[in-house]
Amino acid sequence: MSEGQQRKIIHIDCDSFFASVEMRDDPSLRGRPVAVGGSPDGRGVVATCSYEARRFGVRSAMPMAQALRLCPELVVVRTRMDKYKEASEAVHSIFRRFTDRIEPLSLDEAFLDVTGSVLFNGSATRIAEAIRRAVREELGLTVSAGVAPNKFLAKIASDWRKPDGLFVLKPDEVDAFVRRLPVEKLFGVGPRTAEKLHRLGLRSCEDLRALDLPTLTERFGVFGQRLFDLARGKDERPRAAPSGPQVPLRRAHL
Ligand SMILES: [Mg+2]
Repeated sequence: MSEGQQRKIIHIDCDSFFASVEMRDDPSLRGRPVAVGGSPDGRGVVATCSYEARRFGVRSAMPMAQALRLCPELVVVRTRMDKYKEASEAVHSIFRRFTDRIEPLSLDEAFLDVTGSVLFNGSATRIAEAIRRAVREELGLTVSAGVAPNKFLAKIASDWRKPDGLFVLKPDEVDAFVRRLPVEKLFGVGPRTAEKLHRLGLRSCEDLRALDLPTLTERFGVFGQRLFDLARGKDERPRAAPSGPQVPLRRAHL
């Protein structure tokens, strides 16, 4: 990558991954509220649930017993991690057809750096579409994709049209997009930092931009610099290194 070249990052995230694998493998589950996870009798929690279940308020990490109270017709499916690992490997092998610059974040999520790619005349949007199509046609799963000039924005973009969506943020659209972003969307801003920002009257990145760097550093320490940059859509973390065949088997991002 030459100095100053515009980066092109794609963030891919499978939609309700565990539940989608179960619904693919058992057609009788399709269109129904499905939750994958532990038993409602013990202290089992929801690992992933279908979008049909989300309409009832069922969420990841919720106790399964509570999920069943919210949605009595919920179909509870026990976690089959081997199946999800297998599906994850298949999804990642599709990624590798398009680039070797892959940074896996979890079983069902990865950053792909396609800066300088010659595929599709270098169109990251068309690469993302091709990946989405291949996963759908070959694996029977849907993924959402975000295309942007850096990782932080690509990750937000993949969530923007979820499920089964694509959202492209062009370099000249970044400023207006980020300006309106709520501070809690920023990488590294958890509930506590969000609350602290809200107490200071800072709700959007536009609000955050009103604070200069010394003020942010004084209030947030080293994270102040990061807030300063993110509020301006800047994220200079390096591009993904070429990855080996192994995908970390951390808990899927749900
Ligand atoms: Mg996902």
